[in-house]
Formats: sequence, structure tokens, C-alpha cells
Amino acid sequence: MPLVSLEPVLKTALRDKFAVAAFNPVDYASMKAMVRAAEEIDSPVIIQSSAKTIRYYGHAALAAWMRELAADSAVPVVLHLDHGKDMQMIRTCIDSGWTSVMIDASDKPFEENLQLTGQVVEWAAQAGIGVEAEIGEIGGVEEDLVVDEDSVTLTDPEEAERFCKALDLSAFAAQIGTAHGNYRREPSVAFDLIADINRRTGTPMALHGGTGLSEDTFRRCIELGCAKINISTNLKHVFIDSFTQFKADNPNNYEPLNYLSAQFDALKALFKAKMTLFGSAGKSAAVLASIG
Ligand SMILES: [Zn+2]
Repeated sequence: MPLVSLEPVLKTALRDKFAVAAFNPVDYASMKAMVRAAEEIDSPVIIQSSAKTIRYYGHAALAAWMRELAADSAVPVVLHLDHGKDMQMIRTCIDSGWTSVMIDASDKPFEENLQLTGQVVEWAAQAGIGVEAEIGEIGGVEEDLVVDEDSVTLTDPEEAERFCKALDLSAFAAQIGTAHGNYRREPSVAFDLIADINRRTGTPMALHGGTGLSEDTFRRCIELGCAKINISTNLKHVFIDSFTQFKADNPNNYEPLNYLSAQFDALKALFKAKMTLFGSAGKSAAVLASIG
């Protein structure tokens, strides 16, 4: 089926208390592994390109790969832009077939963030696609920018309420104690803040910095209103480790396709495990029913 918008996917997830995994692909094969994993367990999936990946391949190639993979698939697939900070790049995503974009103006003052996000919401509404936005910068390694994990300021729930009431968002990201990259120790997630923000806004929350959180933390976050969970660092490790491990196990093998299929299987196993953990296995039909 054609790519679907983020909005009905996350509304269904929030209503039925599961979360949809959002993975950052690095090439065509990793995208394909995401779609195949979702098909094997009948799950919706969000494929989210980073700005870095778009700069590497260009909008046209990524959109063409995703259109082809989704068209052959019976499960709902969203093509999302992760952490869009460049308005021109966001505009080109919308014009190139992305079905959701994140505008991340969280490093700007509140009013400016509201205004920039409002512009993107207007564009997205015309295209019939979803928007994710963020207030309260999420720390860690993001696009090579390192934010100190000890200097985080949690999102103010009153600001979150004002922001989400002013804008029609499909997903809302806030600083609730998580960070991008690898944790030195499991972070203390502000569960009460997630509950408070969700109560005030009713907007599905996106959990950033999902790599390294415990299963129990994931379950509690989902229960409290996190409907989208981003997994990137995990994927990068499996992508590289599966490849080098194959070389270590088969030092004389110089058939590239053998490496690629070992890597594909390892990625697919990771994706299925995360989707199953987040409760989205078997939820395709519920999402499709909400699209109508
Ligand atoms: Zn993020």
C-alpha cells in the first residue's frame, strides 16, 4: 500500500496502549529489513531518515526506495524525517513524498519554536501528512552534536500544554530525562512528567534516546502515553557488528552478498524484537481500520 501518515498510526497506538518503533535506516537494505520485520509480525513501522542520511543519498533516492518497499507491503509504513532543523530540507521532504516530518526547533526560544513549527504544520496539513515537534532539547549525540547529559532541563509541562494546544501535532517530543547515543548508566526517566504532559495535551509522545532503556522503562513509558519510540544507536551497532562478525567467522569468504544477508538477518531480528517489546505486533489491522 502507499506510505501512510504518522497521525492515524500514533492515534491508534495511544488508544490501544502500544508504541510504534521508529528506526533510522542507513541504506536500502536496512529499510527493507524494517519492512520485512514488520510484515513478519504484522506490525506498523516508522522509517525515519536523519538529515545526515538525506544529505548522503538525496531526497529522491530515499523516497523512491521507500515508495517501492511500501507499495509491495500489506503493513502500514510511515516515511518520517527525524530532527528536521532546516526548513528547506523539511519542505523538500514534504514535496518528495515523506508522510511525516519532525521540525526540531527546540534550540530556539519558545515563541520562535512555536512560529517555525506552525509553518511546518501548515505545509503538512496541505499535503495531508503528520508532524512531530519538540520543546526542551533532548541531549546526547544527535547529528554529531554532543549535549552534556548532566545539564538537561526537563520540559515545562505548562509550556508543553500551550505548545500542543496551539498546534495540530501527530507526535510531541519533550525532554523527559532520556538522551541520544549510549548511556553511561540507565537514565532516570521522569515518568510523572510523561503522565502530566500526556494528561494536559493528549498528543501521542515520541520517546527519543530509546537505545539502552530497560524493558520495564519502555513498558511504563508506553503505559503513560509514549506512542513512538526511536531506536537508532542499537541499529548502528548491529549494522556494523554483524558485518565484521561475519568476516571474523568466515575469513576467506569474499562474496559480498553473503555479508549483506548476514547483516540483513541480524537487523531484521533486532527490529522484530523491538516491535514485539513495544506491543505493536499484530496491530496492522487496527491501524488500517483507523485510516479507513
Ligand atoms: Zn531524537
